[in-house]
Amino acid sequence: MAWLTGYPREEIGWFPTIDSEKCVKCGMCMNCGKNVYDWTENGAKVVRPFDCVVGCTTCANLCLGNAISFPEIDVVRETYKKQGIWAKVKKQLQAEGKLEATK
Ligand code: SF4
Ligand code: SF4
Repeated sequence: MAWLTGYPREEIGWFPTIDSEKCVKCGMCMNCGKNVYDWTENGAKVVRPFDCVVGCTTCANLCLGNAISFPEIDVVRETYKKQGIWAKVKKQLQAEGKLEATK
């Protein structure tokens, strides 16, 4: 996957936070394809935060209690800019033949 191209995932503070006061235990977040949550006697818990796909907000969008939040995306974008991640992603995609190589 070319979302980060080797930049350490742990350096990017993007993962969900649950407001337990708002959680109505609907279970929707347990559909996360990256298995970020575990179900506990107190409802969903974020247990693998760095498996969350950077920039994804699906669980928050579909949470019945509107209980899930994420950091500001602009902070992530700033990191991508400073670390040249966009350029690296493009290069990797070109190497994989998914984008045409530019001359
Ligand atoms: S934002 Fe996406 S990847 Fe991250 S925990 Fe929610 S559904 Fe999973
Ligand atoms: S989707 Fe929201 S309300 Fe439903 S269990 Fe998860 S955190 Fe709680």
